[in-house]
Amino acid sequence: MSKFASFLDYNQKFTINSFPLLTLKEGEILVKNLCTSLCRSDLHTYQGKRIEKSPTILGHEIVGIIEAFGPNAPLNDFKDSPLKVGDKITWAIYASSPEDEFSKANMPQKAKDLFKYGHEQITDTSHFHGGLSEHTILKKNTLVIKLSQELPNEIASLINCSVATVAGALRLAGNIQNKSVSVYGTGMLGIIACAMASKMGASKVIAVDESAERLEVAKQFGATEICLPTGALHHKVDIVLEFSGALDAMQNSIRMLKIGGVTIWIGAVFPQSDIPINAEYIIRNLLTIKGLHNYNNEDFLNAVNFIEMNYTFFDFEKLIKKGFSLDEVSEAFEYAIAHNPFRVSIHL
Ligand SMILES: [Zn+2]
Repeated sequence: MSKFASFLDYNQKFTINSFPLLTLKEGEILVKNLCTSLCRSDLHTYQGKRIEKSPTILGHEIVGIIEAFGPNAPLNDFKDSPLKVGDKITWAIYASSPEDEFSKANMPQKAKDLFKYGHEQITDTSHFHGGLSEHTILKKNTLVIKLSQELPNEIASLINCSVATVAGALRLAGNIQNKSVSVYGTGMLGIIACAMASKMGASKVIAVDESAERLEVAKQFGATEICLPTGALHHKVDIVLEFSGALDAMQNSIRMLKIGGVTIWIGAVFPQSDIPINAEYIIRNLLTIKGLHNYNNEDFLNAVNFIEMNYTFFDFEKLIKKGFSLDEVSEAFEYAIAHNPFRVSIHL
């Protein structure tokens, strides 16, 4: 038997249930979850700002240890390190066929047979696919990377959504070396983006946010300058990474660019109104707008490498409010919504 928090509908409390673990199928790995952090999209689902098929198990920022291998499960991780029972691992949010046309085009997160942890419906044949659970069953074709046992679980849990998505944004931005970067929106992803851009050699990192408190935190994670949205247009930069999803932020992100600049939109992952864009301004200033949803295999690998190299340099742990158990998942969501910390983590 394994315990999980079942989510039915928004503004309903989670119900804690137990169910026998399914027999592992071809290529599957059973993971004992250690820690799950509540991502913004989990909170949006809980609040009814986005809809998931239900009943479901939310939570996709997860870290765990291998408990068992199914038939023909991979015995090496994505870095080709051998895997064994007891290894601490992270895994990509998606499982999809490497033969799909989108997978082959480096967009496995958009493959036709996409399976996404923390976003699937519980059925008779599909269960234990989210982080608010004692176990996760990793599907065939899930990218797995072994982690150092020393890496704290709360930090490790950030890899498979926040950190990998930021790695994807920086891949789309191109060469960061000696470029000026603005990070618009300093929630968890924005803070990680400040840290990653600074480590990748950005000449300056300008953090923009409505919260003076969060901007102060950004300074401890690599931001060289901070400003409120009202002052954003006083800056001209090569790259903007837009994490807030606010309409005026996306418009500002275009106007902040120098000639030839690129803005990456990552934040607007909930229903949006159209925004006016001046085509002549884009054309005459040689600007590029790119969208990013989730990440690909390369981003996931870069995310693991970044965290393993820098988790002692940046104090990510202090951004995570700890101390909730699986039985307290409803309280953890209420706390996260009421107090808006960078992350709330659930210990499993
Ligand atoms: Zn997420």
